[in-house]
Amino acid sequence: MKVICAENMGFCFGVKRALDMALKERNAYTLGQLIHNPQVVELLEKKGIKVVNSVDEADRTLIITAHGTSKSNILKARKKGLKIIDTTCPLVKRVQNLAREFYEKGYNIILLGDREHSEVKGVVSNVDDALVINSAKETKSLRFSKASVLSQTTQSLEKFNEIAAILKKNIPDLKVFNTICDATKKRQDSAIKLAKKVDLMIVVGGYNSANTKRLREICSKIVETKHIEKADEIDDKWFNGRNLIGLTAGASTPDWVINNVKEKIEKY
Ligand code: SF4
Repeated sequence: MKVICAENMGFCFGVKRALDMALKERNAYTLGQLIHNPQVVELLEKKGIKVVNSVDEADRTLIITAHGTSKSNILKARKKGLKIIDTTCPLVKRVQNLAREFYEKGYNIILLGDREHSEVKGVVSNVDDALVINSAKETKSLRFSKASVLSQTTQSLEKFNEIAAILKKNIPDLKVFNTICDATKKRQDSAIKLAKKVDLMIVVGGYNSANTKRLREICSKIVETKHIEKADEIDDKWFNGRNLIGLTAGASTPDWVINNVKEKIEKY
């Protein structure tokens, strides 16, 4: 089986940075998974870095993940006297800062994102009031005299542009900030390019990784797409009658996991 890899895929600089910072610690906790990838979580556990789901569960160093957390969690950790290692990616910090800046200037804040994602909760916690939307449908009824629209860093550019175009028609003073990170955009562009050339796309990454899910979503609009976390999930039947397989991976997928998948497909 012939496999073509997307030009841009796998670990982004923010994830690499977070992992490097975390690996300098011992006996620490990460607030949620540092990287939405089971293999990386396992590696960290072996080094004594465990996942907790709330600040209450931590009693020593607390690592904030690359996509950030809410202000209330930071305050709680400070109050408990925990040592905080904040690996929030500078690109996520930018979204938090822009939301705060424009909220203070009197703009309504509209954020395209998944309400339950820690990044979105973190951005929203920087202002007293923000509206989180996730579809063009929800956008059509919005009316403000002034608003600022931003995006969770891992959203699809196509969706953001569609939403911004609708808002422009209804909001006289609209500030549009495309805060989708370049690593996400490059991975999406490469995946689209590749999906147009192949018989099947395989997207590798954690099932709970937002940017990996977005890659699957985008590719499946073009060609049949399978999302897997690791090589042993591959099913031989997928390759029947197919010659060319496209491979991509989310920004939280380590190279060794991608390589295992590639090698396994090539054996068919
Ligand atoms: S996907 Fe983008 S925003 Fe997220 S950690 Fe990577 S570089 Fe930063």
